[in-house]
Amino acid sequence: MTCVFCRIAAGELPAQKLHEDDLVFAVRDRAPQAPTHVLVIPRAHVASLWELEDERLAGRLLAVAAQVARAEGLAGGWRLIANTREHGGQEVAHLHLHVVGGRPLGRMLSAPG
Ligand SMILES: [Zn+2]
Repeated sequence: MTCVFCRIAAGELPAQKLHEDDLVFAVRDRAPQAPTHVLVIPRAHVASLWELEDERLAGRLLAVAAQVARAEGLAGGWRLIANTREHGGQEVAHLHLHVVGGRPLGRMLSAPG
């Protein structure tokens, strides 16, 4: 098993999980681009949002993203980003949602830089 997120899900790689349930888990991004930058990740390997067909998993990913945002105190606003496939800037080929906030993010439809 070489996929880094599959390895974290399986406990093969240590990671502090902010959330973990039967379908998804959440960890802080290792290269945060804002004061809060958390990844919400399905436990099962789904290559990207393009491949996501499980509506129960889709719902859980969104619900946990909102839960993380509340837990991180992002009442002022935040952004949910799903970089998808090569042109979308996806860097790990295992679906993950970025919860980003803690500073004004501007209006651009892009990842904060
Ligand atoms: Zn994986």
